[in-house]
Amino acid sequence: MPIQAISAKLTRRIPLTENVYELQFQIINPEEFMFVSGQFINIKVEDGNPKIFFRSYSIMSTPSQKNNITTCIKLIPTGRATPWLTTVAEGTNVTMMGPLGRFVFHESAEKNTIFIATGTGITPLRCMIEDQMEKGNTSKMHLIWGFRFEKDIFYVQELEKIHAIYPNFTYNITVSRPEDNWTGTRGRVTDWLETNLTTPLQTQVYICGVGDMVTDTVTLCEKVGMAKEDIHFEKYD
Ligand SMILES: Cc1cc2nc3c(=O)[nH]c(=O)nc-3n(C[C@H](O)[C@H](O)[C@H](O)COP(=O)(O)OP(=O)(O)OC[C@H]3O[C@@H](n4cnc5c(N)ncnc54)[C@H](O)[C@@H]3O)c2cc1C
Repeated sequence: MPIQAISAKLTRRIPLTENVYELQFQIINPEEFMFVSGQFINIKVEDGNPKIFFRSYSIMSTPSQKNNITTCIKLIPTGRATPWLTTVAEGTNVTMMGPLGRFVFHESAEKNTIFIATGTGITPLRCMIEDQMEKGNTSKMHLIWGFRFEKDIFYVQELEKIHAIYPNFTYNITVSRPEDNWTGTRGRVTDWLETNLTTPLQTQVYICGVGDMVTDTVTLCEKVGMAKEDIHFEKYD
């Protein structure tokens, strides 16, 4: 699909945690926006600074929603784009470029899928998961999603809803620094994978997040014998 300029209106910004927000955009032009699940858009940051620049954001809404784009962002207080995106008025028109990126889902009849994310790394993975479910993919898909603290967790109801409709989709949330009374999974996503990545030759993985988590996870997948072409990742920094 050709990269094009997109004119869109920020229709809603929903706070999800103390520093994570869902942004909903209505596309004004083109009439229909086509992309593949996993891709991203570049948003033009028009914060009054004469030096114009763009920042990348994964698309969370599915390709079936041709007139809307939803994304999910973490506020970086010392950054430039996110302080603007988390305060600009709803109703503001923004310019984007897209679709961009090669981090896209590969349908496979033989392989199960493990999605691995930390924080807002869920954004392209949720798009892939919901897109595959909408398309009737009945293969096993599991999401392991990591957070540092319980207060950082979001979208649990949304994941529960997907699981209730599509039981082939399952998920675990793992917390690396939980309170004593946390009854869920503990540790980093790589800890979970070390125990649960039991069929590396029948598995494909999609990894998204920031920092060492992506490189550490790729290294682990390679170490257990996964083929390079089954390891897909997007690094936010
Ligand atoms: C292909 C691609 C897709 C992306 N999609 C998303 C997305 O869907 N949601 C999203 O929140 N970000 C996403 N990012 C990151 C985003 O482009 C910005 O870098 C981020 O929002 C920070 O921008 P800023 O100008 O506010 O701060 P900057 O000054 O650019 O960033 C400061 C530092 O914050 C760290 N950082 C960047 N993003 C994150 C993050 N998500 N969580 C924790 N630390 C971070 C980095 O180490 C960076 O050096 C994506 C990046 C890429 C390359």
